[in-house]
Amino acid sequence: MGLLSLGTPLDWQEAKKHAEFIRKNGIEQFLHVYNQIKDKNRDNLLWGDEIEYLVVELDPEAKKARLLNENYKIIERLQQDEIDYLENAEKGIKSSPPLALWRPEYGDFMIEGTPGEPYGSNLKDLLTVEKSMQYRRNRANSELKKNQAALSITAYPKMGQGDWISPHYEAGGKYAQSLFIPDEVINPHPRFKTLSANIRERRQAKVEINVPIFRDTNTPWPFIDPTIPWDRQKYPGDSEAKNGAAKENHVYMDAMAFGMGCCCLQVTFQASNVNEARRLNDQLAPVGAIMMALSAASPCYRGFVTDIDCRWNVISAAVDDRTPYERGVSDIRQGNERRITKSRYATIDSYLGSNDGFFQPEYNDVDLEYDHEIYKHLREAGGVDEHLARHIAHLFIRDPLVIFEEKLELDNTATTDHFENLQSTNWQNMRFKLPPGPGSKIGWRVEFRPIEAQFTDFENAAFAIFVVLLTRAILSFDLDFYLKVTKMDENMQRAHRRDAVNQCKFWFRKNVFPRRPVIGGGGGDLTKDSEPTKNNDNILTNGKPVDMNDEIEQHNDQEMTLDEIINGQQEQQSSSLSSSSHFPGLAPIVESYLDSSNIDIITRCQLQKYIDLIRKRATGESKTNALWIREFIASHPDYKHDSFIPDSTNYDLLSTINDISAKNTFPF
Ligand code: ADP
Ligand code: MG
Ligand code: MG
Ligand code: MG
Ligand code: MG
Repeated sequence: MGLLSLGTPLDWQEAKKHAEFIRKNGIEQFLHVYNQIKDKNRDNLLWGDEIEYLVVELDPEAKKARLLNENYKIIERLQQDEIDYLENAEKGIKSSPPLALWRPEYGDFMIEGTPGEPYGSNLKDLLTVEKSMQYRRNRANSELKKNQAALSITAYPKMGQGDWISPHYEAGGKYAQSLFIPDEVINPHPRFKTLSANIRERRQAKVEINVPIFRDTNTPWPFIDPTIPWDRQKYPGDSEAKNGAAKENHVYMDAMAFGMGCCCLQVTFQASNVNEARRLNDQLAPVGAIMMALSAASPCYRGFVTDIDCRWNVISAAVDDRTPYERGVSDIRQGNERRITKSRYATIDSYLGSNDGFFQPEYNDVDLEYDHEIYKHLREAGGVDEHLARHIAHLFIRDPLVIFEEKLELDNTATTDHFENLQSTNWQNMRFKLPPGPGSKIGWRVEFRPIEAQFTDFENAAFAIFVVLLTRAILSFDLDFYLKVTKMDENMQRAHRRDAVNQCKFWFRKNVFPRRPVIGGGGGDLTKDSEPTKNNDNILTNGKPVDMNDEIEQHNDQEMTLDEIINGQQEQQSSSLSSSSHFPGLAPIVESYLDSSNIDIITRCQLQKYIDLIRKRATGESKTNALWIREFIASHPDYKHDSFIPDSTNYDLLSTINDISAKNTFPF
């Protein structure tokens, strides 16, 4: 998302009148771009990460940590380099590009930073990733006071509980009407408040988030939360909590900020053409839950230790704008409403398919809700193929939530604003990004979105680099990770479980080399497709060619531990070739890719440090941030083992995370 445009956003009663118009024109904008650039080819690998930060203020006297609001002022200062650069460019003056780009996020206590320019395609460029992340952290901190810090923490443990925000505001306000969150913490850009209000109004209730509480030795049971202002009577939705929205034995939350106030690490890759983008979109989707479980970092919500380790479902519920009929809690159907299974923040419901020959229609095993008219139009008038048309028609079952009055009538050949309105509010685990337009240098991109933000830049770099290397291995070795959508969803749920790394198995494809693997030099360049060689002497298959006839689609998946998925399975003795194909592990695949490229030894060793972190996460040797947070709280003297996080515990936790982040060494 670029610098946000300003305008007058329409409230829901007005906005909904224009929904059809936006959808119709959004599709025309999509088709205009698609048909002009669908054959765009030979774009280089460019890629970049996005890291979100919470700004925390430490108050050593009161032994309290609070989130610092009013970051829009800080972001304005951070953006100055970019603004100067753009102004110079307009005047024809050459200047060096900014080293980082800064964007506002949902919470005014948040900051988002990306590298100033995307990283290039040389393997050596990977060594600049962590440096860029460190630069960003230091740059953000340079605008902050000594007792304040930008921390890449996925979920703030005490959000909406007690004295948690600075300056202090009363909970409530007309947009979110929350029992816990003041509207003042929503970013002042008009987009964000309107988004919150319009989700609530479309849904016809406040959002409802219930996270199971972690039952510690002294947790009162059944747990009925004494910190909820059950009897407040200020806003129409105030009675929802006691009328069933707040569930027993759960931590209840009622506002978008609890979800969109979470931070994450996202990685966007440019593909060489549309087909490669579709392929990467599909192949990375099943890897999402795996990476989320390994990066698990968010066990605490609204002041309590909970029973989940990841943010995903919290965000999903926090922006669930489905009407009662759509979400299946009412049978009274209004207008042309349809049932919709998932929130607009959710995993993908269908694969895009590509020409890699691996995609099977059976993988799309959920009944996809899609707009049939839009689908027909995309197919017949637009010449879009079945699977892409269905994906777009699925995104377009949603209503546009924020419409700017000044931006209704647009030239569909000059902008994709209406398309992006829906695309950017379908928050899926993978995002297939349309190039901005025919004139743009930017090509087809794919965004990988499930990774949780890590305390340190070393960890964040490791996850980003591992995923980008995996994309190269997928393309070079022609890998097949397809898994049925329902299994991918099941994995995503398992990834949330407390200590999933050590406790859970995940579905993954048994044979990821359905064809003879192609091993060859990438020449130190991440973009070059390797030349096929007949080299079977490699760790991936132990020298055994894979017989394609052994592919039995029905029995292609197995449940494995994360250790097995990342580090590989031990080979079992077996008489037949097919059953001897133990799973090689994603880390050995990535290492094999590196070893087959002309990489210099120093770069190779430095990259290994990142791969090793992922390997150790998978064995449990390196704790997830989530497990570390749990252990920190459990061993804190002021914590009473009742699941409630005291201010002093939170303060010590945040101070320690601040030290860890500043030193860039995760000590475990
Ligand atoms: P959004 O919030 O919509 O996902 P951002 O602009 O915040 O998008 O982040 C996009 C990421 O993609 C950044 O890391 C950026 O460096 C990177 N990026 C920018 N241009 C390209 C490109 N042509 N190809 C791949 N990645 C790119
Ligand atoms: Mg962004
Ligand atoms: Mg964004
Ligand atoms: Mg963001
Ligand atoms: Mg993004």
